[in-house]
Amino acid sequence: GGSLGEFDVVVIGGGPGGYVAAIKAAQLGLKTACVEKRGSLGGTCLNVGCIPSKALLHSSHLYEEAKHAFPTHGIRIEGKVTLELPAMMKQKMNSVRGLTKGIEALFKKNQVTYVKGTGKLASATQIKVRPPDSDEFAQEIHAKNIIIATGSEPVALPMLPFDEKRVVSSTGALSLPTIPQRMAVIGGGYIGLEMGSVWRRLGAEVTVIEFTDRIVPAMDHEIGDRFLQILKKQGLKFKLGTKVTGAKIPAEPSPVTLELESAKDSSKKETFDADVVLVATGRRPYTAELGLEALGIELDDRGRIPIDDAFRTRVPNIYAIGDVVRGAMLAHKAEDEGIACAETIAGHKAHLNYDCIPGVVYTHPEVASVGKTEEELKAAGIAYNKGTFPFMANSRARTNDAGGDFTQGLVKVLAEKQTDRILGLHIIGPGAGEMIAEGVLAMEYGASSEDIARTCHAHPTLSEALREAAMATFDRPIHF
Ligand code: FAD
Repeated sequence: GGSLGEFDVVVIGGGPGGYVAAIKAAQLGLKTACVEKRGSLGGTCLNVGCIPSKALLHSSHLYEEAKHAFPTHGIRIEGKVTLELPAMMKQKMNSVRGLTKGIEALFKKNQVTYVKGTGKLASATQIKVRPPDSDEFAQEIHAKNIIIATGSEPVALPMLPFDEKRVVSSTGALSLPTIPQRMAVIGGGYIGLEMGSVWRRLGAEVTVIEFTDRIVPAMDHEIGDRFLQILKKQGLKFKLGTKVTGAKIPAEPSPVTLELESAKDSSKKETFDADVVLVATGRRPYTAELGLEALGIELDDRGRIPIDDAFRTRVPNIYAIGDVVRGAMLAHKAEDEGIACAETIAGHKAHLNYDCIPGVVYTHPEVASVGKTEEELKAAGIAYNKGTFPFMANSRARTNDAGGDFTQGLVKVLAEKQTDRILGLHIIGPGAGEMIAEGVLAMEYGASSEDIARTCHAHPTLSEALREAAMATFDRPIHF
């Protein structure tokens, strides 16, 4: 109990926003503490988000490769390729543990004080802490500046409360003990498609139920249409333009029965049985127990903490960053806000370019994008040139290919008609998530498509497809 001392900066929440802000603040010479209630650092991302999902995506991809891609490349496995799910989960656990422990080590190295417990604002300069396994906010910390980085949580549907066994959030979907025979994924966003892909690869029959008539609706439509085609070919099933209106959850082993209705025609109804239902319809900012009301900090209509351009709430020494504020709910967006926020507190002039934040779906193939979609440019009345290049015409993709997995994608560059400045870049293909970095850097520097086209790219690489798409934007590509 008692006082934990006085700090220049206290961060509430140890996710990608909070832990990065804490390290940066300490590096800038500020005495810093970070309060985290989870029992491990890294937040949603490292514990139940980005990292475990990518571990399972990689492992399940290897399993599928061993079954389907190896024979194409002349590799024969004598006997059957079989799956040991507990070992796959252990591999996932090990990567999570290694990385979360790594942040603890970084805190030590940078002299950030790690406070284990739930933090609550008692005043603009005082935080009360309830230690783990305690009912009381018995400890207190004094802070000149406070950064709220409490993140977000999955939203349940009223008729499908999470039991994390048969009705699961992404957290449950990362730890299923057995492979379900039939899995329903409600929500065709990136989390639903990534987790759906994992369990489909491992043997489940997966059906994605999505209210709108597109998957990942905000994605560039040309890329999204191709993505849907590819996922269907892989065996994922889709019910688009469909809403879930009810559910029956009888005792096991009976399946969960979903009641479905066409989004356009409410007379079209059907039922759908699934052994496991993943609800992946969205996440909402998490501010429970924070004590914001007493300080006059009101949430906006979507439950987010309102901030100004310098991450300040209406209380000038209290800042907020990451999933709990406006903008994309992405780890790298939270991290960059963490750095900019710490720099602001240290008196530096910090800046974050929200037009250059990439988004990646880590399926196989991956989908990566940055900047504007064609639909957004049209809606804004901006004249643009478009250049595309298919991986079918890229030598490295052809070399790696097994059954079309490397060659069915494309790169698309969108540049302003007048100036040739790149406004958007969209890639669907293996490695897209790595490849997009070049485009993000180019856009950050205000590059034209001709800048990329006149930059030498190593041969044979997938990145040559980006260069050729850039060529196609203002001139003609060589290989297509
Ligand atoms: P969080 O990571 O949510 O961290 C907030 C932390 O604050 C939590 O650890 C919580 O315990 C703690 N906390 C809350 N309240 C208190 C309190 N009062 N006191 C003390 N501690 C508190 N993003 C990507 O960019 N790439 C991906 O591939 C990706 N994959 C994802 C996959 C899944 C399945 C999910 C669910 C998310 C994924 N995300 C991904 C999103 C990413 O996880 C979030 O955008 C990111 O974690 C947000 O960081 P944050 O620091 O704002 O919040």
